[in-house]
Amino acid sequence: MDRPRVVVVGSANMDLVATAPKLPRSAETVLGTDFVMVAGGKGANQAIAVARAGGAATFLGAIGSDSFGVTLKARIAAAGVDMSHVRVVYGTSGVALVTVSAGGEHAVVVTPGANASFAGLTEAELGAVRAADVLVAQLEIPVETVTQAALAAREAGTRVVLNAAPPRELPAELLGAVDLLVVNDLEARAISGKGREAPEALLDVVPRAVLTLGAEGAWYGERGGRCQHVPAFKVELVDSTGAGDAFTSALAVAWGEGRDLVEAVRWASAAGAACARRLGASVSLPSRAEIDALYRSGDPA
Ligand code: ADP
Repeated sequence: MDRPRVVVVGSANMDLVATAPKLPRSAETVLGTDFVMVAGGKGANQAIAVARAGGAATFLGAIGSDSFGVTLKARIAAAGVDMSHVRVVYGTSGVALVTVSAGGEHAVVVTPGANASFAGLTEAELGAVRAADVLVAQLEIPVETVTQAALAAREAGTRVVLNAAPPRELPAELLGAVDLLVVNDLEARAISGKGREAPEALLDVVPRAVLTLGAEGAWYGERGGRCQHVPAFKVELVDSTGAGDAFTSALAVAWGEGRDLVEAVRWASAAGAACARRLGASVSLPSRAEIDALYRSGDPA
């Protein structure tokens, strides 16, 4: 089967991650132990996760004219993502300053940089959306841009998967163009006013929805159809950062391949679990072989 064409519209950040014995207090300087620089931002993570999961991934987004932009573009492309449409905006790239303590606490400052000015999709960008099987979007870029992409996708018959993170209220115009919503408890509350106690409230606003519940699995529902819990795969938790991104991307790839949605949610659960057993976000996104191996390793817990 041809690889499904998945366009991811969203953010790209350079994550600057320092590890130290403890987090610094106000005005304190702490001597750190390690430093790494990795590609991040939900858009970039999900584009990389799509490529790893076996989809033909295209990223639509904006990077800055600084050296971080150059590095980001090269690293995301090296993961197998088509970066030919990425915009270079004069100024700084999105940056996340992350401090992690030996005890596992962390503190993060994100400056959106170029992501904040990613607006007004061009004909070429809209053409990529229209030519895709699936559009995947999140909310770390202006919501007007997400809406514009979703409306173009809807018109062209491209399926729209919205991972509504970080939590915020959404315009009715955008919700009306969503085919499949992926949210966690907090994000669900921001949209329907209800979380895990009543996930079916999401079906008042979108035709299909997934509510992810970490190690407790996920809930899947479709309007007028199936509503069911999909258990998680049992893995030894190391770091669940990126699990939601791995989940959303694998789900989009499986749906783009024409798989049944409940089966697609199960396969996506294997992707989320495979990510949770490794440290890091974009570096721990699982390959298709890893997802398949966990998926086949037996029934979810
Ligand atoms: P988010 O980070 O967006 O809140 P979740 O933590 O709910 O997302 O993770 C998304 C999916 O990844 C879950 O529905 C589940 O299938 C899988 N997952 C996450 N954490 C674990 C874990 N500790 N064990 C097994 N599966 C997990």
